[in-house]
Amino acid sequence: MRCPECGKFAAYGEPAVEVVDFGSTDDTLEAEVRVSLVCAEDETELKELILNVTAEVDHTCDLERVVAHQLKSTEPDKLGTDDVDRAVADRDFEVSDCNAEPLEGAKGKKSTYGATVVWTATCSACGDAVEAMSEDEMEASEFEEVA
Ligand SMILES: [Zn+2]
Ligand SMILES: [Zn+2]
Repeated sequence: MRCPECGKFAAYGEPAVEVVDFGSTDDTLEAEVRVSLVCAEDETELKELILNVTAEVDHTCDLERVVAHQLKSTEPDKLGTDDVDRAVADRDFEVSDCNAEPLEGAKGKKSTYGATVVWTATCSACGDAVEAMSEDEMEASEFEEVA
């Protein structure tokens, strides 16, 4: 498309990325990332897209650490094997940090743009910090023009 700023048929530069929302469901970490295509000449935003990027957490709770973590909130004589099992079965991940980096042409096509997302989360069962990474990108033609 033609850039309204410089009037040229724009080549896109490195996309601008911004995490607009993040969270988790069970073992899946989620992020909404706004990716915008900018004019390579003057960085005017020309097109945009919201990418929904997800990653599965690859994490096995260490039982000793689960016990230690649960003892922070439960008296030792009230913590049974069932409680430990339940903490692991019901675990979730609280995302404390989520960052996106621009991604360009990773699928071997010059015209794809997207983001690489890195999450940092805490396991509710054992208290360990876990990290996950994922990426997604779309063809420039799938992006909407910025109104
Ligand atoms: Zn321009
Ligand atoms: Zn864990």
